[in-house]
Order: sequence, then C-alpha cells, then structure tokens
Amino acid sequence: MAATTNIFTHKETNNWFKAWIALNVMKEGLTNFVVSELKNVHSAIGISCGQCSIANLMPCPTRCLCKKRKPYTCTFHTSQLPKSCQTCDKVKQNITSLHRYNCPSWRNSKAERWVTDPWEIGKCYLPPDGYSDVSSVQESDFNGVISILLNCKHFQTCLSPTFLTPPPPDKQCPLEKIRQIGRDVRHTADCKVTDADLQDYFKTLATLLADPICLLHDTAAIDAHRKLSDLQNDQLTLTGLGELLKEANQTLTHAKEVRERLSKEAAKTLTEGLKTLEATIQVGVLRIQSETMDSIVRIKQAANEKGQDDYERGVAGTMKKCYPKGYSYSKVKKLQMWCKKMTEGYRDVEVLDMDRSWKSGLVFCAIIHRFRPDLM
Ligand SMILES: [Zn+2]
Ligand SMILES: [Zn+2]
Repeated sequence: MAATTNIFTHKETNNWFKAWIALNVMKEGLTNFVVSELKNVHSAIGISCGQCSIANLMPCPTRCLCKKRKPYTCTFHTSQLPKSCQTCDKVKQNITSLHRYNCPSWRNSKAERWVTDPWEIGKCYLPPDGYSDVSSVQESDFNGVISILLNCKHFQTCLSPTFLTPPPPDKQCPLEKIRQIGRDVRHTADCKVTDADLQDYFKTLATLLADPICLLHDTAAIDAHRKLSDLQNDQLTLTGLGELLKEANQTLTHAKEVRERLSKEAAKTLTEGLKTLEATIQVGVLRIQSETMDSIVRIKQAANEKGQDDYERGVAGTMKKCYPKGYSYSKVKKLQMWCKKMTEGYRDVEVLDMDRSWKSGLVFCAIIHRFRPDLM
C-alpha cells in the first residue's frame, strides 16, 4: 500500500518536507559505507593507550578547542590537565593530518575510546559541536555523515574523484553542494522548496548514492536509492514511511538538543508534518491489521474446509479398498447430507463426515429417534 507524503496544502511546503525526509534517507544510505571506511581509518591511525582523555592530550590552548591562555581559567581544561603520552600523541597527529583543515573537532570525541571504537575517531571530522553524545554513525545525522566525507581525507581515496573535484571548500565541489542542500533545508525561513529545486535535490543525492566506485554493491545505498525514487514518485509503502518518520523525528530531536541553527519555522512545520503523517500511518496500520485479521479468518476457514475435504477423501479411499466394487464417494456424500438433514436440531449432534461424527453413537440415536421417537 503506497502512502503519500503530500500532507500540506501548499505544494512547496510538501516539497520542503520531502526534502527533509530525503536527507534522512540519504544518511541511512551512506551509513554502512561510512561505518566500514571508519574501520579502515581506525587501523591506519594506530592504537592509542586507552587511558588518556582529550583534556589530557590537548595542550592549553588548542586551536578549535579552547582559547584561554592559562590552564586554570580554561573552560575546557577544568579537572584534567595536559600530560604527555607518546602513544596517544602519535594517534592525535595522525587524526590531525587526515583532517582536511588540520582542525579536528576534539570536543566531540572521547579519546579513551579511540582504542576500540572507530566512531570516536570519526567524530573528530564532524562539525565542532553537538555530537559528543552521539554514539554511532546510525545515531548521527545527514550533516554529520556528509561532514565526515568532506573533512576526512581518507574518503577521497574511496569516493569517485568527481565528487571532490574541485576540492572543498570550493562551492562547485559536488560534495559541498550536497552539504549545502542540507543547510538550505535546515535553515529555511519559509519551509518552501520549488519543484525544480526538489527535483535537483533528488537528482544530486541519488548521484552520490550510485557512486560506481564505492557504493555500487552497498545494500544500504541501493535501498536508499530506491527509497529516494519512491519518495520522489509518492510510491513509499506505509511501513517504509513509518521507518523514515521515526528517523526524521530523531533527527529533529537531535537538532533541537544541540541547538543547531534549525530555523524555528522548519522545526514547527516539521513537527506538524510528522504528527499528520503519524496519524495517517496509524489509520493505515489499523486498516492493514483489520484486513490481515479478516484474511487470517478466511485462510483458517479455507484450511478447515480443505482439511475436512481431504479427510473425507482419505476415508473414501479406505472404503474403496474395503469395498472395491460397491463403494461410491458421491453416494456416500449424498447419504451424509441426508443424515445431516435428519439430525438437524439435535443437541450435540453434527454430521461432518461418515466416520468420526458417528463415534459417540449420538448421530445414530438421533436418526432412530427421528423416525421412532417411541423407541428412545
Ligand atoms: Zn595515552
Ligand atoms: Zn584549555
């Protein structure tokens, strides 16, 4: 059952809403790829000691982290002060040299986990704030995932070169253009997207998901590519839309939590849209459930009837073996119908066949009673 995302009366507001959902689909589609490449980044960067925190590893002040010159007045270096660790310093340098602007987002990352968790290293390539509590790529959002692709130079070795030519931060860089779509959708003043822009968004996002070098056989990317096309053509299933809705809602909550510059209008429109869609889905789900129950009842009935029929045919087969000449299935069936008619109205008596129904003796008694009530 296809579900429509056309929930607003204004066409361009619907377009904007679809664009928001599309960004979530896009993030889902890139998740597997980013997770697996971060494992490669993790092994390339080296093993840390697992004891040092960011506050231990970063001198005070550190560019992109803390500004105050005196350790005891720095808002970041409050309880833990910088100390030297050769193992972690090497890892830190490697993370920095893989950063396109040599400015990792240290504030997001927990260095104690670098040793076991590639994502904590990936977080160094995210926007500077707001991701410290995000514990996986899956929990992250479109902006986060695209930022990793742009900021971590490892990805220029696995994505098709066209996506990073000209290189960031050139506005003509295709990956920068994709990031810009995210910004435009989040920071909108009126929550409107023209038809032409929406088609352009779909086309641009789909191109990345179809990257022939790294995503051609990636199941998440293939799935997202299909969902984007379904969303574009209003062919999403109710279940599919339900999942996307959950995702979109999480992203909204996250955006609000980190006080990201999500426009007030966007947050309001999105909440309204998500509520309407949720209600639509609920109605759809109830209808599906009711239709499913009806189907189950019908299937059970059919199965019972078939079972009874099979059983009777089995009995007929046995009877034929016992009476090879004189047995006729249709004659026995006619006799059964006659017995059924004769015993109508008798309590606990029902002629369903010419075998099991007779075992208690009640059918026999009922027939005798019908013709000779004086005997029984
Ligand atoms: Zn260390
Ligand atoms: Zn400091």
